[in-house]
Amino acid sequence: MPRFRPDRKKKRAPRHSHVCSACGREVAFCWHCPCGFALCQACMDENIWGMTCNWVTWTCPDCGADRSF
Ligand SMILES: [Zn+2]
Ligand SMILES: [Zn+2]
Repeated sequence: MPRFRPDRKKKRAPRHSHVCSACGREVAFCWHCPCGFALCQACMDENIWGMTCNWVTWTCPDCGADRSF
């Protein structure tokens, strides 16, 4: 009978977590840019007025790219 090893390390591995460039928090979801900039939802909410002017795209403060929501 094969021995069963309980894989304790496998509990909820945050494989898709990102680190917010603004607050440094690790979050499950981030708005991100190909340049590597990432912004969590909380920071996006805080900075939304400075990030978008048309509510269709937000501008990456790092590289200036327009990113759609
Ligand atoms: Zn953040
Ligand atoms: Zn960028």
